[in-house]
Amino acid sequence: MSKQLQQEITRRRTFGIISHPDAGKTTLTEKLLLFGGAINMAGAVKSRKVDRHATSDWMAIEQERGISVTTSVMKFTYRDYEVNLLDTPGHQDFSEDTYRVLTAVDSAVMVIDSAKGVESQTEKLMEVCRMRNTPIMTFINKLDREGRSPLDLMDEIEEKLQIECTPLSWPIGMGKTFKGVYNLYHKTLHLFKPGQTTRDIKKIVIEDLNDPQVDSLLGSQADDLREDIELLEGAANPFEYEHYLQASQTPVFFGSAINNFGVQEMLDCFVEMAPAPGPRRTVTREVLPAEESFSGFVFKIQANMDPAHRDRIAFFRICSGKFTRGMKVKHHRLGKDITLANATIFMAQERANIDEAWPGDIIGLHNHGTIKIGDTFTPKEMLKFTGIPNFAPEHFRRVLLKDPLKTKQLQKGLIQLAEEGAIQVFRPLIGSDYIIGAVGVLQFEVTMARLKNEYSVNAVYEPVDYQAARWVRSDTPKSMDEFERKNQASLAFDSEGFLTYLAQNEWMLNYFMEKWPDIIFDKTRENV
Ligand code: GDP
Repeated sequence: MSKQLQQEITRRRTFGIISHPDAGKTTLTEKLLLFGGAINMAGAVKSRKVDRHATSDWMAIEQERGISVTTSVMKFTYRDYEVNLLDTPGHQDFSEDTYRVLTAVDSAVMVIDSAKGVESQTEKLMEVCRMRNTPIMTFINKLDREGRSPLDLMDEIEEKLQIECTPLSWPIGMGKTFKGVYNLYHKTLHLFKPGQTTRDIKKIVIEDLNDPQVDSLLGSQADDLREDIELLEGAANPFEYEHYLQASQTPVFFGSAINNFGVQEMLDCFVEMAPAPGPRRTVTREVLPAEESFSGFVFKIQANMDPAHRDRIAFFRICSGKFTRGMKVKHHRLGKDITLANATIFMAQERANIDEAWPGDIIGLHNHGTIKIGDTFTPKEMLKFTGIPNFAPEHFRRVLLKDPLKTKQLQKGLIQLAEEGAIQVFRPLIGSDYIIGAVGVLQFEVTMARLKNEYSVNAVYEPVDYQAARWVRSDTPKSMDEFERKNQASLAFDSEGFLTYLAQNEWMLNYFMEKWPDIIFDKTRENV
């Protein structure tokens, strides 16, 4: 194994941020990029977000798609570490991609609003992290405002997200009385100053909390801190590094992203503790990052800005070996050799052609529809990485074609758009309609606009009475036959021909799952 390869792996951190909209993901991202020197002006990430939400007409969506290509992966260097932050789109652009990005990270940071606690999107994203036992670090944000008590918040995380919390920092007051945090790990006091813009916050080392210095710094809140710490020493879960790596425990930090408070502290712990790229499973064997032979997989496909060209960018996560520009690899699914001539690497605000990249890095590959989500490229050995699934959609629409002569175009358009992974297309067993499923509703608008612009198809949506979908299979063919026969009206094939059950609501879904114990209802499905 080459020494350089091992070094490059050891210093890489590839992660995503999971949060509910408005918890502070964008603000935190911006501060992280600031520390990484990737941007030098506060507001750079923010202003793009404002643009994105100003309007939702087609051009804006197009622009947004272009912008989100550059924000999809933000690479920066911090200390000796190479950090790849993968964007997990939230708000209206919440989609299946948001889930699938999490299959390409090695760890995640969870942002929680201290007033709101655990919210619905955080729960959904945590569920995805659990599929691969992704290690999670938690940042409880907005301590400069009145929020819920830290113990209450940690209880809720433990209960709703089924992960043990261990505080590595502890807040002193909150809102108007927020004085700062005490770092339990390094035993240092960090005093809060609103509007913090400098990178260095003075740390005061406190050997003993009974030191009168603590009283002079914190006034009447010094005793509260002493009591809290005493309580924690008895009651809090001790930090166990192995448990963090196994994703059964999450270290918790408190701070205020907008005031840049507590951010660097978490970043320091993050780069030191978060896992470097690890082994990845394929259908046949486990691949280690330090294997000399290059390998990786596609986890996201994005149409490019220019609709006239219909070219797409495939986001490819390197799992092993070194990437060099112009290298030849096998496209196993198509049985073809391809040259990776034009790989792009994503920097915080720009794209640049690159000559080499390492495990954990994400490269962008231009293509004209020949690459699908889940595709694996290696120079020789036939491998197929697993764990990059489709996720069951949660919103549904029926597509009604206005011009019946365009059925072919509609079909082609829908299949190609489904391949990009933002929507899923179903053909019910009964009838000839298409049903589209998505994880976030903006995708319906984007799909309709793209059908019109890129495929000249005029169509409209009709509401349908579905709220959940599951791929169905069974080990007993007889049960499967019976299930299929009796439930034709609720069954459909997806774009790859897999049988899917469409349920009116969660209640019906649960009822069906109980009623048909021999049928397996899958919430995710891997591409073949
Ligand atoms: P996102 O939707 O998760 O990306 O959240 P944003 O970063 O856009 O933040 C949502 C709102 O919360 C914005 O108005 C931010 O200015 C505000 N915000 C973010 N961090 C803090 C914080 O530490 N304290 C306070 N008071 N507001 C914050």
